[in-house]
Amino acid sequence: MPITGIYGPDDLASRPQGQVVSSPRDAPARTGPALPRPSLEWTPEVERATAALYDRVKHVIPPIEWPLMAPTIKAINELKRARGAVILAHNYQAPEIFHCVADIGGDSLQLAVEATKVEANIIVQCGVHFMAETSKLLDPDDKTVLIPDSRAGCSLAASITGADVRLLREKFPGVPVVAYVNTSAEVKAEVDICCTSSNAVQVVESLNAPTVIFLPDRYLATYVASKTDVKIIAWKGSCEVHERFKGEELRAFREADPSVQIIAHPECPPDVLAEADFTGSTAHMINWVRQKRPRRLVMITECSMADNVRAELPDVEMLRPCNLCPHMKRITLANILESLLTLREEVTIDPALAVRALRSVERMINLKN
Ligand code: SF4
Repeated sequence: MPITGIYGPDDLASRPQGQVVSSPRDAPARTGPALPRPSLEWTPEVERATAALYDRVKHVIPPIEWPLMAPTIKAINELKRARGAVILAHNYQAPEIFHCVADIGGDSLQLAVEATKVEANIIVQCGVHFMAETSKLLDPDDKTVLIPDSRAGCSLAASITGADVRLLREKFPGVPVVAYVNTSAEVKAEVDICCTSSNAVQVVESLNAPTVIFLPDRYLATYVASKTDVKIIAWKGSCEVHERFKGEELRAFREADPSVQIIAHPECPPDVLAEADFTGSTAHMINWVRQKRPRRLVMITECSMADNVRAELPDVEMLRPCNLCPHMKRITLANILESLLTLREEVTIDPALAVRALRSVERMINLKN
């Protein structure tokens, strides 16, 4: 069914005007001395040491670019071992990060859950700030969580504050609130349970309520509403990457080649999803490609994911369009190296808020199990 209502900051009369939405913070490094800077020259030794890594990305990184990246990749991998660090990379990170320096790759929740199982003292999160916060929330050992650029935000996470959630609760007393993981810890602390794009329908139905507030992504809310009888009240947030796709672009691809397969992320608008052969989270999309091995594919999500899949499955021809996420692209080889050298920028969360935010994430994880 269609969503029951949609609200945003302007509909919450008592929201203070001009309020700054919670944003990533810079924090002083907690431990460890800065290490000496390694040489970043392209030498025969660097070429030999990184040859196996280049083999993984040769279908998506031209040979002329490799000498510019390989010295930093080698230095990161050596520093990572010296620091006892583990690097997590989201599916939207560039191939030289995802395939050449990351220890664990995946979607935001996979990364946070996998991070709890590693023995490293330091986690370097190559993704956006809410992802680093989620890793910090789920970390039982209080590891040092670093993000190479704390300005790496997200249009969804920035669309709503904890105060907005409290105002929504006043407007709809007794209605449970589900938050997509693409939210700040401050918002997670105010809601009943979190969800991902893979389990959103299951989470909404688990609440056994006739109506649920689902935030912050209006398009994911619309998709969930189309799959359940629960009435959905949505928030006016959106992903600035996925909302730019248009159904007409996809129709043009299909008209040009009727055999093309189209898969899309549920953060896209409904006219885009209507054209897709499959809709799913990043992890589900990757699994779908691995299983189906389509000859020609339009993957409607962030550009780097298509490159990362193509590096693994070069026989699949990827057709554009794709859109870049400017926040994800703040993470670079250069600032990952800097982060390992200086142990900046550490992600911290107020302990009292962390307890409440963790509860919402754990409720979802327990539901999954
Ligand atoms: S792709 Fe969209 S949802 Fe993901 S980090 Fe970028 S803005 Fe946020």
